[in-house]
Amino acid sequence: MNLVVFGPPGAGKGTQAKRLVDDRGFVQLSTGEMLRSEISSGSIIGSQVEELIQAGDLVPDEIVCALIEKNISANPQATGFIFDGFPRTIAQADALDRVLVEKEMHLDKVIRLVVDDQALVTRITKRFEEEGRKDDNPETFQVRLAAYNEQTAPLLPYYAAKGLLNEVDGMANIDEVALVIAGMLDGV
Ligand code: AMP
Repeated sequence: MNLVVFGPPGAGKGTQAKRLVDDRGFVQLSTGEMLRSEISSGSIIGSQVEELIQAGDLVPDEIVCALIEKNISANPQATGFIFDGFPRTIAQADALDRVLVEKEMHLDKVIRLVVDDQALVTRITKRFEEEGRKDDNPETFQVRLAAYNEQTAPLLPYYAAKGLLNEVDGMANIDEVALVIAGMLDGV
């Protein structure tokens, strides 16, 4: 089973993706984590994306699509993938479709975590204090939220039209959200 965990920064995508890894053995593919590890390893890709990430802007589609394709190919035994923070543009969603078709796979569900903007600000402020991720600072967070609204939210009607979109109240606590997602997947 292949899933997209969808939502704005701070919605809990990474947290819920990790729960699905623990509970079901799926492979989590987080483009944010891949890009941060490119930066910390000092790679060429890392140097190309560092400024964009620190500014809160999206990195070019070609870069994230190549990373996703590489990581899908690197996990041929996976029983399922959870795409976390990807796709973030319509072009990325089209590219994901193409890669999955090539590999005779498909997306089963897109799970949208619905969280109001004020709660996102509170969560990201807390994460900034606890983890010190530079792009979680309040100014950059506003840029990331605008990128979500302008470039990523158009994927909602795109996936709704494909009959893949499922919405979860992401304001509930972590266990409750995980339970609702589990119910959706068991109905697949
Ligand atoms: P995340 O950890 O998912 O919040 O991603 C952190 C940052 O990495 C984002 O603000 C973007 O700059 C970049 N990024 C992660 N995933 C993508 C993506 N799919 N497309 C473009 N940029 C991305």
